[in-house]
Amino acid sequence: QVKRELKNGWRRYRPSMTQEAQTRLLVTSGLRDALERSEFQLHYQPQIDLKSGEVMCLEALLRWFPEGGVPVPPDLFIPAAEASGLIIELGQWVLGAACAQLAAWHRSGFPRLRVAINVSPLQFARPDFAQSVERALEQAGLEASALELELTERGELSDLPAVLGQFRALQHMGVHLALDDFGAGESNLGRLLHLPFDVLKLDHHLIASLGTQPEAQMFLPALQTFASSLNLELVAEGIETEAQLEAVRALGCQRAQGYLLGRPAAVWPPEPAPR
Ligand code: C2E
Ligand code: MG
Ligand code: MG
Ligand code: MG
Repeated sequence: QVKRELKNGWRRYRPSMTQEAQTRLLVTSGLRDALERSEFQLHYQPQIDLKSGEVMCLEALLRWFPEGGVPVPPDLFIPAAEASGLIIELGQWVLGAACAQLAAWHRSGFPRLRVAINVSPLQFARPDFAQSVERALEQAGLEASALELELTERGELSDLPAVLGQFRALQHMGVHLALDDFGAGESNLGRLLHLPFDVLKLDHHLIASLGTQPEAQMFLPALQTFASSLNLELVAEGIETEAQLEAVRALGCQRAQGYLLGRPAAVWPPEPAPR
């Protein structure tokens, strides 16, 4: 009896928030301030067209530099931004900033460059998302086809019909839609079949297993056939070695991205090294 009461009491007085939730709350108020203080920056990582060898697209990757603190990687703060709803505002900022940067590149001698932006499923589920993309493009003076939006395969899609509606509107505008992190963990082929993607990004874990797992060697050519039958462009992520680059080229991937080809950086094209 006493034992049970103790147990219940402990339960009652136990902080209702887990450590993780408390951390998240702290991070969330930090994120809101950070947005007001302009502590976010976009870095850009090139994607190489494997036929021409040219940079055809740059992926915008969000960075948080808290004043006086150490930089926080997106994998740490994006989940908190999603949990708090701040991802909507933050995502709008990313969209505006990346479009402005792309327009500047177009004016400075790279008129055919594309920008790829990571978009949270929560943004895609908003009924006004496609419209806000259209406004951002208009404001920057960009064609819709200069923009690629990436949706990660990880995690749940809470409202597939809502996302599908926005996908159709975006596709109609001419925006490219990419499925990110394909082959990372539990794969959801349904997502690929139900949403009109035109780009498939192979996750870096899949690429890394190319040289080490015979299964990957057999699976990837089949995936290539599947992708081309769906008219999907294949992009290989996380290319770190020449051997991986050759392997994905042989596989028929159209684009490659990874440290071997260029690290994410604040400035593109890279500034020449000081002499
Ligand atoms: P992602 O979209 O799959 O982006 C690729 C990640 O792999 C980036 O990590 C990039 O720096 C890293 N990477 C690039 N090349 C290599 C390589 O050769 N090897 C390895 N091991 N890694 C490589 P990062 O910048 O830390 O971003 C992590 C994730 O955060 C992104 O994964 C994306 O899902 C998310 N994210 C980044 N920016 C945004 C954003 O603006 N909005 C949203 N919603 N998510 C974002
Ligand atoms: Mg991405
Ligand atoms: Mg990815
Ligand atoms: Mg990833």
